[in-house]
Amino acid sequence: MATAGKVIKCRAAVIWEAGQMPSLEEVEVAPPRTHEVRVKIVATGICGTDNHVRAGFFPDIDYPVIAGHEAAGIVESVGPEVTICESQNLMPDKTSRFTCKGKQVYHFLWTSTFSEYTVMPEASIAKIDNAAPLEKVCLFGCGFSTGYGAAINTAKVEPGSTCAIFGLGGVGLSVIMGCKTAGASRIIGIDINKEKFAKAKELGATECISPNDFNKPIEKVLVEMTGLGVDYSFEVIGRIDTEIAALASSRLGSGTCVLVGAPPSGSELTFDPKLVLTGRKLIGSFLGGWKLKEALPKLVSDYLNKKCNPDALISHTLPFEKIAEGFELLHTGKSIRCVLLF
Ligand code: NAD
Ligand code: ZN
Repeated sequence: MATAGKVIKCRAAVIWEAGQMPSLEEVEVAPPRTHEVRVKIVATGICGTDNHVRAGFFPDIDYPVIAGHEAAGIVESVGPEVTICESQNLMPDKTSRFTCKGKQVYHFLWTSTFSEYTVMPEASIAKIDNAAPLEKVCLFGCGFSTGYGAAINTAKVEPGSTCAIFGLGGVGLSVIMGCKTAGASRIIGIDINKEKFAKAKELGATECISPNDFNKPIEKVLVEMTGLGVDYSFEVIGRIDTEIAALASSRLGSGTCVLVGAPPSGSELTFDPKLVLTGRKLIGSFLGGWKLKEALPKLVSDYLNKKCNPDALISHTLPFEKIAEGFELLHTGKSIRCVLLF
């Protein structure tokens, strides 16, 4: 590549401060160093976690930052000794490869895919089948793999079981797909935005409810609907109150509650210990419990072999320049996944 070893100037979306929309800028992307890879991003989704970065949910993140972590692209160049695979706000050597207007710009999750070119540690990328449509399989980078894996790897949902999914965004809907694949017989979707219900039912929810339609706590409603509670509950929003509601709605004696949503950094989860003393399990799931570097190529070949299909999660496709619109769509609950194309 003619650009190998050189600084590349390209478009990127910089979040200058917590609470601000990403702003389109020209950034300089330094060449990859040892064990790093520079990638030309082709397509990137906007995940709820990116929206948390925009909103300032994570005080441990430094700004200005380039968010984005759910993407597909093409390797442009590699640094020396690429054979391998703390804070992911800087590269592992504690420096940044991005500058904008003479200022260092921070990385996010060692990916920063809201940039036409980005540098990542080799560990953060996975090689997938050349035949895969990048504008679709970018969702395997986070949203789909996270939700689907939370059901099949973390919870290990069993055939005939009852599941409740709190939050029907891209990740929650992927949990529904995982529960359906695992053979759950009853899948209850919960969201305050009823516009999410149609898609949830299309993907496998057997019923959907809004906490706003009841004058009692949603966990009581779920226990009444199911007898002793659901076999598996999933919190896929990122709120403490719904984490406790999810735990309390799991089945007395044997239920499993899986935390997937990311609450603001520093939050504390406090609940009556009786909830777990009475036999419920509380577990967290990060990126669906996969070792993504190995699992992602297999998931993508499953997609190519039509064994799983997250296409239905893509509600919008926009040119990268419209990233602020993409965030607005997610923030206002109008999109599931908006894929940005470079
Ligand atoms: P999203 O914003 O698309 O979806 C969130 C959904 O929750 C929306 O449909 C919203 O209407 C609903 N909601 C909000 N408040 C609610 C309430 N009080 N009761 C019921 N529903 C409510 O986000 P997403 O991309 O689906 O991500 C979901 C969460 O998962 C985020 O917190 C994100 O940071 C987290 N996440 C975690 C991992 C992981 O590895 N654990 C990976 C990706 C995303
Ligand atoms: Zn994500």
